[in-house]
Amino acid sequence: MNVQDIILKKREGGEMSAAEIDFLIKGIVDGSIPDYQTAAWAMAVYFRGMSDRETQTLALTMADSGDLIDLSEIAGIKIDKHSSGGVGDKTTLVVVPLAAAAGVPMAKMSGRGLGHTGGTIDKLESIPGFQAEMSHHQLIHQVNRIGAALVSQSGNLVPADKKLYAIRDVTATVDSIPLIASSIMSKKIAAGAQGIVLDVKVGRGAFMKDREDALQLARTMVKIGRGAGREVVALLTDMSQPLGETVGNAMEVEEAIDLLRGHGPADLEELSLTLSAFILVLAGKCTDFEHAREQVRTVLLSGAGFAKFCEMVTAQGGSLEYNQPSYGLPQAAYHTEVKAVEEGYIVDLDALEVGHTAMLLGAGRQKIGDKIDLAVGIKLLKKRGEFVRPGDVLAIIYSNKTVDSPTWISRLSSCYQLDKEKPPLRPLIIDTVR
Ligand code: URA
Repeated sequence: MNVQDIILKKREGGEMSAAEIDFLIKGIVDGSIPDYQTAAWAMAVYFRGMSDRETQTLALTMADSGDLIDLSEIAGIKIDKHSSGGVGDKTTLVVVPLAAAAGVPMAKMSGRGLGHTGGTIDKLESIPGFQAEMSHHQLIHQVNRIGAALVSQSGNLVPADKKLYAIRDVTATVDSIPLIASSIMSKKIAAGAQGIVLDVKVGRGAFMKDREDALQLARTMVKIGRGAGREVVALLTDMSQPLGETVGNAMEVEEAIDLLRGHGPADLEELSLTLSAFILVLAGKCTDFEHAREQVRTVLLSGAGFAKFCEMVTAQGGSLEYNQPSYGLPQAAYHTEVKAVEEGYIVDLDALEVGHTAMLLGAGRQKIGDKIDLAVGIKLLKKRGEFVRPGDVLAIIYSNKTVDSPTWISRLSSCYQLDKEKPPLRPLIIDTVR
């Protein structure tokens, strides 16, 4: 077999056989296929797409390229959750303790942020002492003991995706539906859970800018999961504006704790409860969604979710001061207010630009390996649909460098678009694919 022929076949719109996909993935992982040929193949896929059968085979072959996590020593049905990447999305920090407190064992592996999107592990590492790395044995032990663990991907999980993603990232081939679907699902399949709840983001701050593409991505991932014998639900959720009121690692942890203590923003609460409810349904804890939602709401309101969060943080070496302001999380040295200069309704709050601004402040990475500042970020006091008058504070920039205020203020102001007319309501949860 020859990689040139595979690239040519894909370039001409042909369908790759399982043997060809296997040859390609093995070659990418062992280095016998050079990056330029992998890049050419990815570009051919970008333009020609893939059949369902090819996408399914690619996902399973990638999943098989490294370790397959065995969670069978954990009693009960294990459910995973995944977001396709957003700005201000701290739902994992809320969903894992809520679902665990409702009786679903949550052995959750998460990643780091890149570009304008954040990553759960970075957020967690803002908690003093928190250990996100643990051995497989420790993971099993902790979940069996307290029902929840939030850890970074360890070992050799889907090495094919690591290599392929790094090449896609620099060759304008990330936003291809079959490549995103197989990348995400290969990792979910290798991570070992029997059920997966997917949060597919739609809008300016997401990979999928429009609903139709997001729906296609969701359907593709559900099919891949089903084909691998997993129960999958995918939600399409709005990422045209950031989720919640904070963007930045420690600030997002604080907001997640606020929610678990009963006073978080409504959109974050809504999405966290919905994702948690689907986890309960997939785990067989409830037969219908409404009942499951009631159950997780009770877990939230009773404080059981917060208690589970505290237990998990302590088990992983973290220490927070729950009676202190900001819970003892790292704080930025400076803050700069961004004020409205005119009156009107906020009709748009650009998630992509807010995410970029937070990244440039130091909250995110421009490239893999960049060091980030866990304390900095942006607090959004006003969001889409709200009415503002001149002088009202729209947002606060938290930084550790003496920022050139006018530049940052103008950058963040331009994320807000105002109009005389109140904008129509935009649903947070746009669709569900089962
Ligand atoms: N997230 C992933 O894990 N892979 C992609 O290709 C895109 C988003």
